[in-house]
Amino acid sequence: MSATTEHARGNVDAREIANFERLASRWWDPRGEMATLHQINPPRVRYVAQCAGGLKGKLALDIGCGGGLLSEALAAEGAEVLGIDMAGELVDVARLHALESGRTPPAFRLDYRQISAEALAAERPQAFDLVCCMEMLEHVPDPASVIAACARLARPGGDLVFSTINRSPKAFALAVVGAEYVLNLVPRGTHDYEKFIRPSELAAWARAAGLEVVGMKGLRYNPLLKSARLADDIDVNYFMHCRKPA
Ligand code: SAH
Repeated sequence: MSATTEHARGNVDAREIANFERLASRWWDPRGEMATLHQINPPRVRYVAQCAGGLKGKLALDIGCGGGLLSEALAAEGAEVLGIDMAGELVDVARLHALESGRTPPAFRLDYRQISAEALAAERPQAFDLVCCMEMLEHVPDPASVIAACARLARPGGDLVFSTINRSPKAFALAVVGAEYVLNLVPRGTHDYEKFIRPSELAAWARAAGLEVVGMKGLRYNPLLKSARLADDIDVNYFMHCRKPA
């Protein structure tokens, strides 16, 4: 077994995977525990499309795809998408949902695999026009290793979009206390404040992996309207758009 594969095994938190797999059967219920992911999907798809200069015909990779919310939406916009996740039950849910919703070839190019970013990077370096990794980095033991794998997976000139939660007092108040304990928007124990990532940390890992940071954008969630929109405030949920130099 190669060093990369060894490390990829080590870079998965089995408790995190089990937590997400428990939600597998309700992943696509817009009023279930994953409701907030459903609600943030439209603005984030818009943001990704903007970063990539359009999605049509792009070969896109969705790392930590879960049940496939983002992957399917990107495919619906004309991208050819591979979604990967280490939770086998979620990969099954994603595949099944694509079949049920008729997102099948030849009209839609959408595939899923249970493989880590590190292992796929060894298999298909420089393959993707667009690499997305959303709401996952704060759940892995070594996020910098995932970023380095993403950098390998992107083709020269390719775009990368990361999203995570800032390690700020405001994020603790809103994303942990507010979302998990007061408003019950997200299952309790989903987020560990210590694992939230400051934009400066994410940017440093991206640069260390040879990426340029192109821009950042916040995502503001409105719990009353149950909707989200892009915003300039990156104190809580935010995106980082990077590019691999051509
Ligand atoms: N990106 C999806 C799902 C976010 S939930 C979305 O935003 O809609 C976080 C996902 O990351 C879960 O599906 C979980 O199984 C996955 N995950 C956690 N650790 C991982 C790892 N090391 N490698 C791949 N996927 C991982």
